[in-house]
Amino acid sequence: MARYRVTIDKDACDGIFACMMRDDRIAESDDMLATYDAGEVSEDESVVVAEFDDDRIDDAKQAAAACPPNAITVEEL
Ligand code: SF4
Repeated sequence: MARYRVTIDKDACDGIFACMMRDDRIAESDDMLATYDAGEVSEDESVVVAEFDDDRIDDAKQAAAACPPNAITVEEL
């Protein structure tokens, strides 16, 4: 188990969704960019922030590694 925060930079996100193949908690938002439909999610016009307390930090890290413009950041809390 780990507590961690995932941040998606919406200005960098290209909406192609390589990330979704690595972390199936990522979803397409109304503006056709990446968001999370799990965890504690907060969002404004420039970032999506999702916090988790589970055993899936590696999925989030793999999504971040797969993201071509490096729009996803994962930090342990
Ligand atoms: S891979 Fe990165 S840029 Fe592409 S949709 Fe996912 S978060 Fe956005």
